[in-house]
Amino acid sequence: MSLKEPKSMSECIYFTNRFLDNDGYIRAWVSKEMCEKCGKGLMGKPKDKKTGKVKIRAKKYHCPECNNIEEQKEYEEKLTVSIKYKCPHCGFESETQVPFKRKRIQILNEETQKKKAAESIRFQCEKCKENIDITKKMK
Ligand SMILES: [Zn+2]
Ligand SMILES: [Zn+2]
Repeated sequence: MSLKEPKSMSECIYFTNRFLDNDGYIRAWVSKEMCEKCGKGLMGKPKDKKTGKVKIRAKKYHCPECNNIEEQKEYEEKLTVSIKYKCPHCGFESETQVPFKRKRIQILNEETQKKKAAESIRFQCEKCKENIDITKKMK
């Protein structure tokens, strides 16, 4: 398997590039997909009519060709995240694809040493089977 990396952010509805412990890293993205209804437009967040900027916080995706609208949560769960990684546990480098679904997990806050809830896209290293998390950055 060799995943084709996106050429630009505009091809993606999600993109992240992170560095992990022990020289590990994660590069993950979700490519835009063709509209299921008309097959002509790439589904994406709607644009603001005045500024032409993408409304990142919109809770819907829409097709610019036929105006097909899908709710964010339902739509995202049908998508796939492509991931290139170097495992922070064993150093294995590989790539994988998992559903674009966030799960609630507990993570340790290193400053306070308390556990807190976070949302994460979790996958397992192909070699050592340890969990690797792409946690959602909390505001
Ligand atoms: Zn369409
Ligand atoms: Zn590993």
